[in-house]
Amino acid sequence: MTALDKLPIAVIGGGPVGLAAAAHLLARGLTVKLYEAHPTVGANLRDWGHVRVFTPWHYCVDVASLAHAAGRIIPDRR
Ligand SMILES: Cc1cc2nc3c(=O)[nH]c(=O)nc-3n(C[C@H](O)[C@H](O)[C@H](O)COP(=O)(O)OP(=O)(O)OC[C@H]3O[C@@H](n4cnc5c(N)ncnc54)[C@H](O)[C@@H]3O)c2cc1C
Repeated sequence: MTALDKLPIAVIGGGPVGLAAAAHLLARGLTVKLYEAHPTVGANLRDWGHVRVFTPWHYCVDVASLAHAAGRIIPDRR
């Protein structure tokens, strides 16, 4: 293990993709630091939150994000 291995992994952007990436990294036991330019995550989605999505919801939600939100750990599938 090197000194670099102890550093957190930076995820830039707290949109759906950044949040899913962070959730997968956390599920693998890694440390994450998420940077979001707006005051809240999901800022772009909130901008058009009044619009009905054209994609079925289950395609929009990542399994690791769901598990993390529910306080569950998903198995590491590496
Ligand atoms: C009206 C409308 C309807 C849509 N409907 C659908 C739909 O039905 N289905 C669908 O799949 N998609 C839909 N989309 C597209 C959807 O918004 C994107 O697919 C989704 O937001 C992409 O997620 P993302 O995490 O890649 O990017 P984003 O949601 O854009 O998130 C990126 C985040 O990174 C942050 N950021 C950017 N630069 C920096 C920086 N330098 N430092 C820190 N933070 C930073 C931003 O503030 C933002 O929060 C729609 C879009 C619009 C406008």
